Amino acid sequence: MATIFQKIIDKEIPATIVFEDELCLAFKDINPQAPTHILLIPKKEIPTLDDLSQQDQNLMGHLLLQVPNIAKQVGLSKGYRTVINCKEYGGQEVYHLHIHILGGRLMKWPPG
Ligand code: AMP
Repeated sequence: MATIFQKIIDKEIPATIVFEDELCLAFKDINPQAPTHILLIPKKEIPTLDDLSQQDQNLMGHLLLQVPNIAKQVGLSKGYRTVINCKEYGGQEVYHLHIHILGGRLMKWPPG
């Protein structure tokens, strides 16, 4: 069964896309937890961080290198937070690996 993010990749359901290339897609979170809340996902179906394998090394490097580009594009010049929730105790709801990019306000630590 396709996840909601796979449906966004396949353009079956709409999303506000801010960046896309052959390997990844970034779009606005539908329930933003900060003034700017972007989700960056690989187009490859990888459920969680725990499902990464050695062959994903270049893909994940590519994703991480897009983060500052996307942050700059959406105006997060003062900084931002990145989060990857992993499985139940990490608070993961959608089982398609994604990087949250949150900004536009001062972040607190520790997170909840
Ligand atoms: P996580 O809890 O780390 O799995 O995060 C999943 C995120 O996906 C949440 O922040 C949701 O608000 C977001 N989300 C769920 N459905 C959609 C959607 N259709 N478009 C954009 N963001 C979504």
